[in-house]
Amino acid sequence: MEAALNKPPLLTGQYAFFFDFDGTLVKLKPHPSQVTLPDNVQHHLRKLADLSQGALALISGRSINELDKFTQPEHYPVAGVHGAERRDINGQQFILSLPTNQMNAIRQQLQSWLADIDGVQIEEKPMAFALHYRHAPDRESWVHDCAEAIVAQYADLTLQQGKCVVEIKPGGVNKGEAVHQFMAEPPFSGRIPVFLGDDLTDEAGFDAVNQYHGVSIKVGQEATCARWRLEDVPAVWAWLSGQVAYFEQQRAITSRRADYESFSRSL
Ligand SMILES: [Mg+2]
Repeated sequence: MEAALNKPPLLTGQYAFFFDFDGTLVKLKPHPSQVTLPDNVQHHLRKLADLSQGALALISGRSINELDKFTQPEHYPVAGVHGAERRDINGQQFILSLPTNQMNAIRQQLQSWLADIDGVQIEEKPMAFALHYRHAPDRESWVHDCAEAIVAQYADLTLQQGKCVVEIKPGGVNKGEAVHQFMAEPPFSGRIPVFLGDDLTDEAGFDAVNQYHGVSIKVGQEATCARWRLEDVPAVWAWLSGQVAYFEQQRAITSRRADYESFSRSL
């Protein structure tokens, strides 16, 4: 049975916005490099960041470098590789790394097990490996077995399941931790967090936001701990546009009121 579509309310306070990227702000494509962020969505993101004093961050499984390419010329605060790398509002970066010999050993093992399997792609990130099997769904259990065999060898690694992808990444790294880190510093601190995401990796982000009594929004129909839902990526775009319009209207009213009060005092 499909879960009820519990649309988020109009947000009328001081919020900090966190967005997953793939499947949330951009539609999923057969290959991750094929996605595009439409100009009007980019425009609304920029406006929302401006209206929120910069309290808007992307939290994604992609690397920061990749995300910057999609949003250029904007460089938003961002957590990449599920939070293993993070850049704050001032541009300062915090990057977790794995020892080179460990990365080399894992790469070698994965290549010997998976390189010859059609449709399976090994994506190497600065401190993680993503094993994609969108084009070889019948190999799902073999890919999982390989990932589990790697993680069993290293106490500091863990698995992250996504849509047709399993990732090997450092333990203690997740989108919830990234939310907590942003919420501990300006301009996010003191605001109510809002998190939108579509995948299993986003559940930790929803859980963190729920702890702040914030607004957790699942994109799609799968089971979730998020409190609200939007149907799909176009519904996210419409929500984003509606929020920007509301905040702009509020800013215009506040500004007119300030002008009027200043005019009254001068009489
Ligand atoms: Mg996603």
